[in-house]
Amino acid sequence: MTFPFDALTACRAELEEEATVNDAQAAFPTGGLDRLRQLGVLAAPLPQTLGGRGFGTEPHGAASLLHMLRLVGQGSLALGRVVEGHVNAIRLIALYGTPEQLAHVGAEVHEGALYGLWVTDDVTPLRMEQTPRGITLHGGKAFASGARQVTRALVTARAGQDGTGRDTTRMLLVALGKDRAIHNASGGLTGMRGAGTGQCDFTGMTVLPAGLVGQAGDYLRQPEFSAGAWRGMAVALGGIERLTALLRSQLAARDRAGSPAQQARIGLALIAGETALLWTRRAALVASSQDRFDSGDISGTVNLARLAVERAGLEVIELVERGLGLSAFVRDNVVERIIRDLSTYLRQPAPDETLCEAAAWFTRRNLPQPDVHA
Ligand SMILES: Cc1cc2nc3c(=O)[nH]c(=O)nc-3n(C[C@H](O)[C@H](O)[C@H](O)COP(=O)(O)OP(=O)(O)OC[C@H]3O[C@@H](n4cnc5c(N)ncnc54)[C@H](O)[C@@H]3O)c2cc1C
Repeated sequence: MTFPFDALTACRAELEEEATVNDAQAAFPTGGLDRLRQLGVLAAPLPQTLGGRGFGTEPHGAASLLHMLRLVGQGSLALGRVVEGHVNAIRLIALYGTPEQLAHVGAEVHEGALYGLWVTDDVTPLRMEQTPRGITLHGGKAFASGARQVTRALVTARAGQDGTGRDTTRMLLVALGKDRAIHNASGGLTGMRGAGTGQCDFTGMTVLPAGLVGQAGDYLRQPEFSAGAWRGMAVALGGIERLTALLRSQLAARDRAGSPAQQARIGLALIAGETALLWTRRAALVASSQDRFDSGDISGTVNLARLAVERAGLEVIELVERGLGLSAFVRDNVVERIIRDLSTYLRQPAPDETLCEAAAWFTRRNLPQPDVHA
């Protein structure tokens, strides 16, 4: 049976409605997440041998994963962020974990588990220490999506120094019960309020050695470290496309779509959206062809794509605000919330470094050419 893309397409309005209703209270979209779970979105990233579809864990699944994340993003960027984190965690466990760990993930996901990938450190970075009782944790994570909903988080922790005196990083799977110590994101985010973002303090927790995933340094290993960003772009792409659709429909509804200046805005927004799609597709293709491309080519391409999608999003936000005027700032216009969500979502780590690294890599090399017919 193929993935029910039509049903996912049909439920976008439902996801958008819940995101709007929940925005003021920054409530988590539990109804939308249940709906996605029923449609098989959370099981889709599992390998086919574990009852999934290999979206994100098998090379053939990249195009379908892009489509799935894009559709979720069109309905709700916050849910897209949560699903993206779940996919990212499963992908890393599939890459670096043991077959037993992955089989366990499969069993849990079929029972409804939600995974998260929490790497952004809180003021006190997460550290681990091996003791006779197991691995004890100290410190915490910030901006953790689904902080109260994720049932098992894949976290990075500093694990002492290597032979050269540098801190090493390990990945750990941590089961999260009702006793988890969560604080809401400091001050409250203005956008992406439905992503359930919070600070999680792990101090005092003990994890069994079986929770260690991969080896020291795996998380930062290229090209995977940079390449994974394409999945976030696919979600952002959905938000960009939704805003463009709203620009078109609201201008038409107000009988303002016919003026040449507004037509130009519609055209420019469509171009920006298509640019974001083409870059995201290229990044996904290159990232899923690791046997064909040099690691630097993969991370450089995905890094450029990240910046291209960010630029496209910022451009569409400006076009929508200019085109719709003050109505884009009125709270009961869904555009107002989606702009806040997209602006927040586009803040990804270290954009300057991302651009400069990619530019340096491609100064003496050409961009790799993926097989667009694959
Ligand atoms: C809704 C939401 C959900 C999130 N969910 C998760 C999650 O589940 N798990 C998780 O791990 N993280 C999560 N994050 C955090 C996210 O992955 C990024 O860490 C965060 O968005 C980075 O944004 P930033 O603007 O602070 O980045 P920064 O890297 O701080 O960039 C801000 C600016 O500073 C510049 N800059 C960066 N470093 C330097 C430097 N050393 N010197 C000078 N300039 C510098 C950058 O180029 C940029 O211009 C989430 C974030 C959001 C908004």
